[in-house]
Amino acid sequence: MLRALLRRKKVCQSFAATSAATKVLAAFHSTTLTIDLQTMKIKILSALEDNYMYLIIDEKTKAAAIVDPVNPDKVLSAVKDEGVNLSKILTTHHHYDHAGGNKDLAQKCKGLAVYGGDDRIDALTDKVTEGSQFKIGSLSVKCLFTPCHTRGHICYFVQPEDTNKDPVVFTGDTLFIGGCGRFFEGTPVQMYNALVKSLGSLPHNTKVYCGHEYTVNNLKYARHAEPDNVDVVEKLKWAQEQRSKGLPTVGLSTIGDEFKFNPFMRVEEKTLQLKAKTQSPVETMGHLRAEKDVFRS
Ligand SMILES: [Zn+2]
Repeated sequence: MLRALLRRKKVCQSFAATSAATKVLAAFHSTTLTIDLQTMKIKILSALEDNYMYLIIDEKTKAAAIVDPVNPDKVLSAVKDEGVNLSKILTTHHHYDHAGGNKDLAQKCKGLAVYGGDDRIDALTDKVTEGSQFKIGSLSVKCLFTPCHTRGHICYFVQPEDTNKDPVVFTGDTLFIGGCGRFFEGTPVQMYNALVKSLGSLPHNTKVYCGHEYTVNNLKYARHAEPDNVDVVEKLKWAQEQRSKGLPTVGLSTIGDEFKFNPFMRVEEKTLQLKAKTQSPVETMGHLRAEKDVFRS
């Protein structure tokens, strides 16, 4: 039993504790050099039909966290491959395809802290809300409360210590590449606040990691909404090429990019307001969502 427990503990903790980032060379023919990379690594793990889980690794300390681990065995195998210490689950929202693996992973990997903004999230240990902060090793995490798809949805903004490196945001089912989540438990004004006010005020070089591979379909709708937008046409072409090679489309566009081709981020643009026959960005948001809900490419 003890051996089994130790084995289990080892799965979640370090397999390779030596960090290349902090290795000091003791030889005398060259100057001693300490290379401190201070970077983060994101491992993109596909799950179910079109979901993504993300293993966030702090390269400096080998601390790691997993976003929406619906397939715990795949997560544990990635943790083992990378030789990192998994200590946290970041849950964007309570839906099964995001939080459905929490219980199993928390059981297999004792002592995990499970973050989320909704009491309906399985195995929740640390309830967070707007502005909550914590660390993954040297990485700083800030929570953004973005209710609408569900009333407890959280996006996680992660910044490396080295502010010259790009930050990233995990947007669950609030912001997709070229689109946004359905308004199951919210209103157009909430999605407007989530996308334009909250996520939209992050640094424009923030890379976007969302909950699903919906990019091609989203951009087909974007092309329908704004046929003259060349950024939409180019991004759609690129996304179709990526998908034809079986490659993900996430993590490669930024908040700044989304403002160019994502109609739901562009509700303040006159072209879209004209289409929605209103001058209100919130009404434009409602119009676009209603149209996208029944859109077939
Ligand atoms: Zn969802």
